[in-house]
Amino acid sequence: MKRVYNFSAGPSMLPLAVLEKAQRELPDYKESGMSVMELSHRSGLFTDIITGAEDLLRELMNIPDNYKVLFVQGGASQQFAMVPLNLMKNGKADYVNTGSWSKKAMKEAKKYGQVNVIASSEEDNFTYIPKLDQNMFDPEADYVHITTNNTIEGTAFREVPDTGNIPLVADMSSNILSEEIDVSKFGIIYAGAQKNIGPAGLTVVIIREDLIGNASDICPTMLDYQTHSESGSLYNTPPTYGIYMAKLVFEWIKELGGIHAIQKRNELKASLLYDYIASSDFYQSPVAEDSRSIMNIPFVIPGLDLDGQFVKEAKEAGLETLKGHRSVGGMRASIYNAMPVEGVEALVSFMKKFEEENK
Ligand SMILES: *Cc1c(COP(=O)(O)O)cnc(C)c1O
Repeated sequence: MKRVYNFSAGPSMLPLAVLEKAQRELPDYKESGMSVMELSHRSGLFTDIITGAEDLLRELMNIPDNYKVLFVQGGASQQFAMVPLNLMKNGKADYVNTGSWSKKAMKEAKKYGQVNVIASSEEDNFTYIPKLDQNMFDPEADYVHITTNNTIEGTAFREVPDTGNIPLVADMSSNILSEEIDVSKFGIIYAGAQKNIGPAGLTVVIIREDLIGNASDICPTMLDYQTHSESGSLYNTPPTYGIYMAKLVFEWIKELGGIHAIQKRNELKASLLYDYIASSDFYQSPVAEDSRSIMNIPFVIPGLDLDGQFVKEAKEAGLETLKGHRSVGGMRASIYNAMPVEGVEALVSFMKKFEEENK
């Protein structure tokens, strides 16, 4: 068997231990004579899977009792519509524009109400996270929306902004479960699964209960948080296999020591890469130091046309999907939870060798 270090931004690496457990359980799940994919979503075995997944997520993230956990479909992109459809009672919301995904969220929200861009780093190519201040928020805004980690640009909020009584809504697709956070500071947290949770097709929503049940009249049933909340995410057939895989990933995180331990590991991985980039005059980070992501790390080779060669030779060395996003250029290493420290060490060794050969 050959496994590579996959630096893809998403779908991305899954822990090998999880894949192997899924493989062992695939044809005959717990002596049912069926795979999880074939189980009824109303069966006892699947009920254990979905409640087990929720309990583990609650434990890992320390989710307070007045929050619901929903397992839905449609990706983070569908949340761009669900959030305004459910929360825009006054018809306006504050958005912080920190990258391509923020822009998509704003574009969608504009269909349902007024979007106030209260801060933006677009004029600087999204290379930093703007400072937010209490007095920037419209007291009548239905919510404030942020993208906690900007997958394409490689920036992240280092602190959760204090929005007072205005619910804070966060797209956490690319950094959920990567570091300890205080869930009680948020009204809604949502994340597509394919970065830090499991396979694509599942979306996790963590929502404070008082934000459920206020959907606009035109809100489709499937986009109403209440539909999924009332039915325990079983209004229709949920992405059953994705939920099963998410449960295995949550178990894996717990075995590693929980979010505290995974955060330490992620910080170590990120600093290996950032420290090397800082020590080299060949590579450069395009991101402001106080805004750096520990999940997605873009880097460039200024002045030389070597990106194509870098990506090609890295692939030959078993380091996959390092091409930067077309809007940023250069390279990007996505080092989510499942990327082992050895993967980042292998990347840094390769970068050193490439630098020596091409300087
Ligand atoms: C990947 C990503 C998305 C899009 O997720 P889908 O599940 O494909 O809709 C949205 N926001 C962020 C921050 C992402 O990283």
